[in-house]
Amino acid sequence: MTVNLAGIVPLSTVDMRDKSVIVIFFSGCPFRCVYCQNYEYLEAQNPVELNLIKSHIDRAAEFVDGVVFTGGEPTMQKEPLKELLKYSYEKGLITEIQTNGCDYPTIRYLLSYLDIISMDVKAPLNAKIYGEICGIDERFAERTIENIRRILMIEEKKIEVKTTVYKEFVDFLEEIKGDLPKDIDWIIQRGNDERVPPSFNLTPLSDDEVKDIAKILSKNRKNIWIRTRAGDEKIS
Ligand code: SF4
Repeated sequence: MTVNLAGIVPLSTVDMRDKSVIVIFFSGCPFRCVYCQNYEYLEAQNPVELNLIKSHIDRAAEFVDGVVFTGGEPTMQKEPLKELLKYSYEKGLITEIQTNGCDYPTIRYLLSYLDIISMDVKAPLNAKIYGEICGIDERFAERTIENIRRILMIEEKKIEVKTTVYKEFVDFLEEIKGDLPKDIDWIIQRGNDERVPPSFNLTPLSDDEVKDIAKILSKNRKNIWIRTRAGDEKIS
């Protein structure tokens, strides 16, 4: 079995809070988000034998706490992802996937070997806006929103939600807040303008602006975090 691989970061201290991890990037994604920082991997082809990736996990397991599978959209490669999650989980590593939430059935299929589901909620759960930000048609956006709602209801595992914010998206945040369960961690991530698609046309905020926005959102809402160049910070 092979994985269409974008890359491996053998040691990261910023991809899982308070833990050191190995990060494995899968190529391919059905979205075309306006700010995608991995857009060059969306259609790349680089099949790599699973055993080679397992050997990277073996080496990392000596000094990391967990493994993060990201992309691209890792759920697009369901069988190799399951095999690698199972392998990591049975080694005692904390396992996390980072997903755009478009495939609830696959998340369910993987659930036994998952500790953390880190899911993007990129916009209010409204198909027109969601489709525009994610570069997908409204029917796909509707299906994605339905999948996101179902993932948000999973109770057996830790779920965290991440929203990337630029100046143009600030007005969406109150509505997104209303769409999310109050007890899950919501990470407001500062969007930047590095490694973005050529058509990128958004305005990054400063770290302080993101913090000020998160403080306003934290009225009546616990578990709000910001993710900036300085790392993660709990706001409420
Ligand atoms: S879901 Fe993630 S990987 Fe896919 S296009 Fe959007 S930002 Fe890029």
